[in-house]
Amino acid sequence: MKDTQLAQISLTKDLTGAIANPIYLSTAYQHPHLGQSTGYDYTRTKNPTRSSFEEAFAKLEGGTASFATSSGMAAVQLICNLFKPGDEILVAFDLYGGTFRLFDYYEQQYGIHFKYVDFLNYEEVENSINKHTKALFIEPISNPQMIQIDVEPYYVLSKKHHLLTIIDNTFLTPYLSTPLEQGADIVLHSATKYIGGHNDVLAGVVTVKDDTLAEQLGQFHNMIGATLSPLDCYLLQRGLKTLHLRIERSQDNARRLAKRCETSDSIDEVLYSGKTGMLSLRLNKAYSVAKFLENLEICIFAESLGGTETFITFPYTQTHVDMPDDEKDKRGIDEHLIRLSIGIEDYKDVEADIIQALENSKVGVIS
Ligand SMILES: *Cc1c(COP(=O)(O)O)cnc(C)c1O
Repeated sequence: MKDTQLAQISLTKDLTGAIANPIYLSTAYQHPHLGQSTGYDYTRTKNPTRSSFEEAFAKLEGGTASFATSSGMAAVQLICNLFKPGDEILVAFDLYGGTFRLFDYYEQQYGIHFKYVDFLNYEEVENSINKHTKALFIEPISNPQMIQIDVEPYYVLSKKHHLLTIIDNTFLTPYLSTPLEQGADIVLHSATKYIGGHNDVLAGVVTVKDDTLAEQLGQFHNMIGATLSPLDCYLLQRGLKTLHLRIERSQDNARRLAKRCETSDSIDEVLYSGKTGMLSLRLNKAYSVAKFLENLEICIFAESLGGTETFITFPYTQTHVDMPDDEKDKRGIDEHLIRLSIGIEDYKDVEADIIQALENSKVGVIS
């Protein structure tokens, strides 16, 4: 069913019979009479192309309302507006560097507290809850360590303490997981990644099912104005049409590569959750990451994920550059760790490229 929903997402009800959705670029909408509106007044508030994407996405997630934002970080920031100085949010320890940087700023500037806890340890999380705690923020597959967190018990815990559970579902997408249907309150994505899928749209999306949350977030969305442009909303819909195919293929490629890397002398550690196309590798110290990256012929040294091409990122100086060294240490983000977003190329080509790049990057003796 989900495959059908994705393949046929947002088919237009346009009277012309057009299959592809029209892109409404108009920022302003004519009013029929004083006190009357077509439902559209001004694009920051509501735009037909954005509504079409948001409605379709909310349905995919099992939610009631989605908000398309100008980036994944704008999605995180939209959610942050729900909190006030003195509130505390418990955050799963290993997370996207940009989110860490934004939370750090909010902590310093606005006195919202972000406490990093180990969500693999249920008791530690439960014991961290106090009267200021308002929410849990989790990436179910952590970045870059690919630790899979069992989120279900936290939905129960958070209901018990009247907390909001916020899930950054960027790695999993609604194809692999729909947290709102399991008990989460707010789900966000960097739609720049798998949702868009082609490295040509910067976007985010926040989805909820509770009406009060939908109303609050809707107000912030319009008030702050980090809304997504109509053209980008169209591109996200187009990306969604093949989401299932792209995820299946990149996941399949990643599984095979993870298995292959387990037997390589040049790799000390393979970090893979078993899901998605994301995996990290810790190279043996006898190998140079710099040389490895230079040797790549097919895979691309670039900082993003979830696209059709295989991307390799160096978290130490890229995604996590603004994280202090001691925080990086705690998360195992060192100068030997690389993160791979496996694309949908022919598996044999990807494997051969990575193996040749590794073999040609030896600079010392294997320890
Ligand atoms: C990329 C990313 C973000 C930020 O999204 P942008 O679209 O780059 O602003 C947030 N969370 C995760 C897990 C990401 O990978």
